[in-house]
Amino acid sequence: MKSLLTKSRYICGLRCPKLLWTYCHAPKTIPEPTQLTQFYLTQGTDIGILAQQLFPKGRAIRIDNFSANLRDSQTFMSLGIPLFEASFLSDRIYARADILEPTEEGAWNLYEVKSSTAVKEEHLNDISFQKYVFEKAGLNIKSCSLIVINNHYVFDGTLDIRQLFKIENVDEKVEALLPEIPRQVSSMLDIMDRNICPQTKIHPLCKGNRYCEMLEVCTGNLPKNNVTSLVFDSENNGIALLNKGITAIKDIPDSFELPAKQQIQRDCIITNKAFIDKENIKSFLDGLTYPLYALDFETVQGAVPLYSNSRPYQSVPFQYSLHVKYHENDELHHYEFLHDGPTDPRPALLKQLKSDIGTEGTILVYYDEFEKGRLKEAATDFPENKEWIEAVISRIKDLFLPFKAFHYYHPDQCGSVSLKKVLPALTGVSYQDMEINKGEVAPAAFMKCYFDDLTTETERSHIRTELLKYCSLDTEGLFLIIQELRRLIEKDEG
Ligand code: SF4
Repeated sequence: MKSLLTKSRYICGLRCPKLLWTYCHAPKTIPEPTQLTQFYLTQGTDIGILAQQLFPKGRAIRIDNFSANLRDSQTFMSLGIPLFEASFLSDRIYARADILEPTEEGAWNLYEVKSSTAVKEEHLNDISFQKYVFEKAGLNIKSCSLIVINNHYVFDGTLDIRQLFKIENVDEKVEALLPEIPRQVSSMLDIMDRNICPQTKIHPLCKGNRYCEMLEVCTGNLPKNNVTSLVFDSENNGIALLNKGITAIKDIPDSFELPAKQQIQRDCIITNKAFIDKENIKSFLDGLTYPLYALDFETVQGAVPLYSNSRPYQSVPFQYSLHVKYHENDELHHYEFLHDGPTDPRPALLKQLKSDIGTEGTILVYYDEFEKGRLKEAATDFPENKEWIEAVISRIKDLFLPFKAFHYYHPDQCGSVSLKKVLPALTGVSYQDMEINKGEVAPAAFMKCYFDDLTTETERSHIRTELLKYCSLDTEGLFLIIQELRRLIEKDEG
């Protein structure tokens, strides 16, 4: 039997023929979703189930058996109640609806649940395809709506489903997309029926709003410091160069005009030397005052708020690391906080931070929007702390800025100005052997500690050790960077 075009395949097909073909013919060659992607997938499923409560008379159709689901969907249509997970097939196109609600005229309102906070283009393509399939299968779809998360909702301890979600009618946008679907469907079925994978070149959608899961496979043969790692490449120079047959940044000809930062990147690779704008780096370093602190938060967030007095997807700090040197030649002192339990971490965290962080001296962070954002939220949510939090915010200096501005660049940064690349390139200290080695992994680790009944005490203790190790390196790393930048400046002055 020829394979079916489902809505997830349709979305893949809109992105790339090679991706669609691979999902149909060689799915095992697609890398497994990361721990973080898996976390979001599970969250999406949970949100879908929660949204069913908006339709209290609805009935869920079993999804563990493809044929039974199709059969029951037909059977239950006559019940005159909302149906969850009803699926329909027409020739080779197939879709399963999150929610179908019957209307008095015998038609159906179609709802698609998304765990994001706003309607995205991909969601519109998704629901348009569903409407197309269902109408082909004989249903009359009267309206199409997306159910998304309302991130203005403030959780007060009792979940109010009607406030957690917002329903957005998208009929007009769907109508605009429908005429294109038959052509897309026919072209995708043709791709799916081929025996050979389409040879699609790297294109802007490979990175797009989110990286394609096949990116590493498709760029696997490219050398280190290849053109896809050109920094701040909003003009897609990397893709233009690939399509000209140029893969390595070092091989980009002088005649190819690059923006200033990409030019520095290329020169560093060719000379295998770091670039440093000493004047600007010195000016940044001269602006630091002692006691000098380095601060980093780890946060957790959920589509459904975890704590009272917080909103969906609000990043709630559960941990911080704080290194400090009271004088320039002082040794490094370390303070840290990691909440222990499923309760709101903010009151205890704020109390300890207030005492640890003092009242004067620069507070270094890397990418200040994040730390400042969390502190501003804390000042709003716990107004009794407003005064000292505002004073803390005014002391913050962002070490990310000199790297973002390319006042320093090392070829080993491979086109990234993130701390995870800057620290090892500049100091040789890396996150490589750490179990938790990315900020995105920390929330899932914390959730596993306190929101997963199956986690044992031994596992919890191990995760806590790893979280403390990871967050500590983030702030110690800022001091190592400062120290190395000072050494580079003084080396030439001496
Ligand atoms: S990385 Fe690009 S070319 Fe490769 S499958 Fe994904 S979208 Fe297609």
